[in-house]
Amino acid sequence: MRTSKRVVLVGANQPLEVWERPIPEPEPGAAVVRVAMSGVCGTDVHLWRGEVPLPYPVTLGHEGIATVEELGKGVTTDYAGAPIKPGDRVYWQPVRQCHRCYYCTVEKDFSLCDNIFEELFRNANDPPSSCYAEFCSLPPGMAFYRVPDDTPTEALIAFGCAMPTVLQALERLGGIQLNQSVVVQGCGPVGLAATMMAGLSGARQVIVIGAPERRLKMARRLGASTTIDLETCKSEADRVQQVRDLTDGRGAEVVIEAAGHLPAFTEGIKLVAKNGRYLIIGLWSAPGTVPIEPRYLNNNNIRIIGNALAQPQHIYGAIQVARAHHREFPMAEVVTHRFALAEAQKALEAVARLETVKSVIVPNQDGVHL
Ligand SMILES: [Zn+2]
Ligand SMILES: [Zn+2]
Repeated sequence: MRTSKRVVLVGANQPLEVWERPIPEPEPGAAVVRVAMSGVCGTDVHLWRGEVPLPYPVTLGHEGIATVEELGKGVTTDYAGAPIKPGDRVYWQPVRQCHRCYYCTVEKDFSLCDNIFEELFRNANDPPSSCYAEFCSLPPGMAFYRVPDDTPTEALIAFGCAMPTVLQALERLGGIQLNQSVVVQGCGPVGLAATMMAGLSGARQVIVIGAPERRLKMARRLGASTTIDLETCKSEADRVQQVRDLTDGRGAEVVIEAAGHLPAFTEGIKLVAKNGRYLIIGLWSAPGTVPIEPRYLNNNNIRIIGNALAQPQHIYGAIQVARAHHREFPMAEVVTHRFALAEAQKALEAVARLETVKSVIVPNQDGVHL
C-alpha cells in the first residue's frame, strides 16, 4: 500500500512531527492526489500557537495544489464539469460542506456550515485532506477543480486561501465601484490579493498601509498606487492624515482590513469616508476588544462588513484570476521561500517573523530545486 509522510501538530506550541502512514485506494467518488505545493498560511502559525482549539493530533495545511494520482470509481470530471484524469493538476476546497445544516441547505452559504471544520481537522492517523503531506485523500464531496495547463502552480499557490477569501469578501461588500479610493490595511497574502483585485475593479487609487518594505514593494507591483510604511510612519494620526491628504480630505470609500492585528480596526474606521464601507477580513484569529464610538458610525453612514473563509466557487474563481492575470502581474513572484516537508517547523517560524512574502512547502521534491 502507498504510504505518505505528513506534518502533524500534536499539541499547542509542540515541535511539529513528521509521521508516515498508509494512504488507501480512493473509495468511489474520492481522489488521491500527490501534493506539488502547500501554502504556509498565517493561520497555520495561529494553529501551532494554540490560538484555535483543535482535536490534536491533526495534520496541517489547507492550501494545496496537487496532481491527480488515482481517481475513485465514478470520478471523470472535476467539480465544474471539466474532464479529469491522473496527472492533471487540481486545487481544492480544503473543507466540505455537510449539506445537513441551516447554512448549507437554507441559506446556501457554505462558508458558514456548522460542521465545516470536521474535515479540516481530521485525526492525523486518518488519510489527510490537509496538505502538509506527500499525498492527500480527497473524500467524495470535497470540491476540487482542474488547474488549466497554462496556469503556473506558483501563481495560484502564491495567494493561497487569501485570494478565494478576498473574492468572497468583495462579493459580500457589494463590489468596488469605478473611481472609488480604496485603502488596504496589511500587505501579507490577503492584503496583496485585495490590492490586486481592487485595482482590477477600477479603483481610482489603492493605498496600502503595511510593512515590511519588501511586501510593500510587491504591493506596488500588484497595483498599489501609494504605500505607507508602518516602520517609518509610526503614528496612527500621521497615517490617517496621509490618507486624508490623498483623498481630498474625505477618506476612502472602501477600506479593507487585511492586517490581522486588532488595533488596525480602530484605525481603519478613521480611514473610511462618509457613506463608506469597511470590510473586515483579517481578524479571524485575532481575539480581543477595542473601544469604538458607535455614534461615529451612525453619523457618518459607515457600513462594516465581515467575511470569513470562502466557498467552492471562490476556489474556482481564484484559478480563473491566476489564469487571466499571471502574465500581467508578477503573481508567481509572491512565493519567496520554499521548504521541504521536514522543514515545516522552520517554515512556520519564518512566516511568524514576517521574513517571507509567501512560503510554500514542496512535499515531493523530485525535480525541484529549493
Ligand atoms: Zn453544513
Ligand atoms: Zn490559509
